[in-house]
Amino acid sequence: IPPQLEDLFKQLNPEQQAAACHDSGPLLIIAGAGTGKTTTLSHRVAYLISQGIDPSRILLLTFSRRAANEMVRRVDALLRAMGAGRENSASARSRSIWGGTFHSTAARLLRRYGQAIGLPDDFTIIDRSDAEDLMSALRSELDLGNNGKKFPRKGTLLEIYSRCVNTCSKLDPILERHYPWCLEHTDELKKLFQAFVDRKEKQNILDYDDLLLFWHALAADPAGGKLLRGQFEAVLVDEYQDTNILQSGILKNLCPDGKGLTVVGDDAQSIYSFRAATVRNILDFPQEYEGTTLVTLEENYRSTQPILQATNQIIDEAHERHEKNLWSSKISGEAPCLVDCSDNNEQADFVVQQVLEHREAGIPLNQQAVLFRASHHSLSLEVELARRNIAYHKYGGLKFIETAHVKDLMAYLRLAENPRDAVSGLRVLTLLPGIGQKKAQQLINLLAESQFRFDAWSEFKPPAATVEHWPLFVRLMKNLSSPQSEKRGISAEVHQVRTFYSPLLDQQYDNATSRQRDLEQLEQVASRFSSRMSFLEEITLDPPSSTQDVSAASGADDDDFLVLSTIHSSKGLEWDAVYVLQAADGSIPSEMSLESEDEIDEERRLFYVALTRAKNWLYVCFPHRQYFQNRRWNQAHSYAQLTRFVSPKTIPLFQRRPAFSADALDTPQEAEIETTAEDIRKNIRNMWSA
Ligand code: ATP
Ligand code: MG
Repeated sequence: IPPQLEDLFKQLNPEQQAAACHDSGPLLIIAGAGTGKTTTLSHRVAYLISQGIDPSRILLLTFSRRAANEMVRRVDALLRAMGAGRENSASARSRSIWGGTFHSTAARLLRRYGQAIGLPDDFTIIDRSDAEDLMSALRSELDLGNNGKKFPRKGTLLEIYSRCVNTCSKLDPILERHYPWCLEHTDELKKLFQAFVDRKEKQNILDYDDLLLFWHALAADPAGGKLLRGQFEAVLVDEYQDTNILQSGILKNLCPDGKGLTVVGDDAQSIYSFRAATVRNILDFPQEYEGTTLVTLEENYRSTQPILQATNQIIDEAHERHEKNLWSSKISGEAPCLVDCSDNNEQADFVVQQVLEHREAGIPLNQQAVLFRASHHSLSLEVELARRNIAYHKYGGLKFIETAHVKDLMAYLRLAENPRDAVSGLRVLTLLPGIGQKKAQQLINLLAESQFRFDAWSEFKPPAATVEHWPLFVRLMKNLSSPQSEKRGISAEVHQVRTFYSPLLDQQYDNATSRQRDLEQLEQVASRFSSRMSFLEEITLDPPSSTQDVSAASGADDDDFLVLSTIHSSKGLEWDAVYVLQAADGSIPSEMSLESEDEIDEERRLFYVALTRAKNWLYVCFPHRQYFQNRRWNQAHSYAQLTRFVSPKTIPLFQRRPAFSADALDTPQEAEIETTAEDIRKNIRNMWSA
């Protein structure tokens, strides 16, 4: 260990130290939750820099912007501590590291080097929902799926397409394996996907899959690959268990013999196979790279031993074995709680009360988190939190940027940036009253015929409903696309768009005031960007998760808030107290994922990820009653089963308790549907009606 790092590396255990200070041979750290993989990775970056590697030649890849920022922050802290007194240069150095997600890194690299494979450098990027919309527009254009047979919806269409791209496989086997009911549409799908590719090219747009695909192509190209290999001396990847074949192919081309490559991950936490990630990447790494040094870590520094005992048992029962033997030196601590709640509302009451109790005892809100399988599971809780005025941020659900009004505003900017982008064009045109799909399409064609100059629209005679808006609209687009516009700055541009769009928004949406406020915030966020291109890219690729996120980023908010997150978005993070909602069969495992042993195993790993986020307190909540609307639209309820992942053998590792001790629960074990006499009468009447 170099002397200036000695103090910092003292905190690491010998295995972690050895990994951090490993030479340049291929390195694989495969170890369980909370064993310090990410910690070791950031120390390794500091080590490499101390060895004289230029930070701008280090590529650090991880699965979310949040995780990447966190990692760069840690490296920054390490560098500061290393070269005390030279703070500015330390953070300048850590800032020059290429840190980000695969997608954002792809975008940066393709802008810089994409010409090598014939990609124009001024492409714009569309997000998943835009890609879905494009898919559905093409479907109607090509008049597909109108023979009365069930045709996949736009979301499924994109999913199929995306799975083919990300697994590098042909359509037929993907359909056979995952979408057998779509086989009869094979030819139509081929035609549609072909058109999808063509249209994106014509409009000069890339979707998320294209980013990986073109990065892969660039890296695999002899000349392109050479450029990239010259750019990076060290490549480090966190959460490697959740990468797909394209991503491992990219790494292979960046580091053909594994020199300078470090990957870390945990096969027991692979939870993205529905996005075509494959755990084989991490398991086969040593075969792929000869001379791999394999490091395993077994001491868990995050959770108390009682929590680990329960989580170890849960992962032990997986169908596919994960050889893990985690232990903690934090011997004492409360056993995790399995909390019986009568229903969702009681679950919400319980969580709120417990959160407040912990806060009283000195654990701030931001050291506590509520995790759930599906975004809607937190609904009652959100209502309760709002009612009691408790600040929270929600991650993983509908993102800020995915809300219609934010997408509207961004569409103006995208169209200005890339007038070929007909997805955005159609969106902003149809926002105008009196302009429907058809007219909008004509206007798009008109634009294309006149070299994409917005002047062309001045001639157009607008329908009565939009006479007022039209000249303003054309002026806005002309302004935005003029070279002077960029000089005024992106937040001035957002302001211009907002001024034009606000009256339309008021007419379009009911809760217009709060939407207007979102847009104000967006304007503030924009002021941090130096160009329109970088703003669009950042917001599209790695959108803030919530409005609160945006305000936090602009420094406007108090930072003590409770975290609500889907389990998928909680990966890699940790909190003092963790509450897991809805531990009922059908919620987790999700009723959508019961088809095969593999799917159920993935749900189990997901549950495992949730539980291993907890440091000291863990509450697994099980609401017994679940309400739903029955076929007659009456409120009915059924009794849920405790999630199968808490087996009879696991239950004793929990401390089982009712949410509120006083009331006894009615808990029949069998699922049972309550049908009212009224339902039965209605049913009988219906039997005879014609
Ligand atoms: P996950 O699989 O959930 O991503 P991880 O293996 O990446 O977990 P980290 O997040 O790096 O684990 O570390 C978990 C916790 O343990 C952190 O709070 C970290 O600071 C702490 N930690 C890691 N290594 C040590 C160590 N050697 N001594 C004390 N604490 C440590
Ligand atoms: Mg980690």
